[in-house]
Amino acid sequence: MIIKNLFKKTNSNKSPVSSKDWKSISPFAVEIINKLQDHNYEAYLVGGCVRDLLANIKPKDFDIATNAEPKEIRKIFKASRIIGKRFQLVHIYKGKQIIEVATFRAGLDKNSTTIENDLIKDDAGKIIRDNIWGNIEDDCNRRDFTINAIYFCPISNTFKDFHDGAQHVKEKKIISIGDPLYRFEEDPVRSLRAIRFATKLNFKLDSKVKEAIYEKGELLGNISNARLFDEFCKIFLNGHGYENFKKLQSFGIAKYLLNLEKKYSRNKVYDESFKNTDKRYRDGKSITPGFLLAAILWPRLIERCSFDNGINVRKFFRSMDSIIAEQQRITAIPRKFSSYIKDIWYLQLKLNDRLKNNPNKIIKHPRFRAGYDFLLIREKASKDKSDLGKWWTSFQHADAKSKEKMIGKVRKIAEGNGNFNPRKGEGKEFGFSEELR
Ligand code: ATP
Ligand code: MG
Repeated sequence: MIIKNLFKKTNSNKSPVSSKDWKSISPFAVEIINKLQDHNYEAYLVGGCVRDLLANIKPKDFDIATNAEPKEIRKIFKASRIIGKRFQLVHIYKGKQIIEVATFRAGLDKNSTTIENDLIKDDAGKIIRDNIWGNIEDDCNRRDFTINAIYFCPISNTFKDFHDGAQHVKEKKIISIGDPLYRFEEDPVRSLRAIRFATKLNFKLDSKVKEAIYEKGELLGNISNARLFDEFCKIFLNGHGYENFKKLQSFGIAKYLLNLEKKYSRNKVYDESFKNTDKRYRDGKSITPGFLLAAILWPRLIERCSFDNGINVRKFFRSMDSIIAEQQRITAIPRKFSSYIKDIWYLQLKLNDRLKNNPNKIIKHPRFRAGYDFLLIREKASKDKSDLGKWWTSFQHADAKSKEKMIGKVRKIAEGNGNFNPRKGEGKEFGFSEELR
């Protein structure tokens, strides 16, 4: 479906914003809109997909808004499911595709004397249930930023833009719908969303939005760890993690997502880990929250067990679970990731141990690659010259004979500098100097 002259048919007569790539609209999303309209409902694309198309970015997903209620949507689409309690939505499936369909929402009528059961706030003003249905005008007021409140129908080629969103896309501005001090109280996660969009789109945060992040950022402490884990993934695993991290730090709210080292919140391991993740994203390589969490929590682990230019190994193992538990109080960590994190940490000890047959064993460890990747990050962050990472790079590619030689050489050096414990057959030292401050 090619959509031309989108902004020539505006409801709000705003200046046209040209967009070249309308072909990237999901045919499945168009099919859903079509079907809803056939059943006499209103239906539009809305949110990130319209915003991204206007900004000439390929949308990552397509959200639909409609006046059909969840149960009515369910009746029309067999392969669908109602999800969420706080915020009910319908997921519609086709093969591997999922499209999220939201029913138009209304705010709480300020003059209303009836207590609505479906929009409930806690003492801090946070909305804990938001399921009052409304019309499109109500719905656009419930959305977070003007650029996210543009409705577009790819069938009739019309759009509705009640808050000058298209103009703000053009001006590259993130502007809140309504007073952000109030809106961020309703939902503190909007602070994180504002930062994420500013970074992704290279847009400027409106000064009122900035002020609200400073003022209301601490309310992120009241958000459930499950929701914050989702936000963690969205903000750090989207190719702009490093920039987002720096922005979160400058607003003083990184601590609501990350259990950072107390003394040196600017530890270089953080910088290198985020840069590495962003690069992997650009290169189309796999990215897992487990790896990033292992890296981010590493300085806390070392802080806990560093001892006399090395580490207390017993404390190292004992602290693993508590460091993960501290992070879990902030963002949930699904179980499969916590064992992954511990494997990566354990491998850091093992990679330090290059005597006897150990290297041949370690290289077969199922998480060897991740452990080795993290070793390279640590080394880079500490500007260490010991070449441990290089050694492992060569070792992986060497034939059996060269491997034996490499191990022999390490043993000789270890014996020579007294850093060799014949009883255990291993070096005593661990860690790069900058890690052990
Ligand atoms: P992206 O999908 O690119 O991360 P998005 O803007 O589409 O960005 P979603 O989380 O998919 O974000 O949400 C879709 C739309 O729903 C948003 O554009 C916005 O209009 C609305 N929305 C989502 N979360 C909130 C929120 N916390 N407060 C208000 N509106 C929201
Ligand atoms: Mg979206």
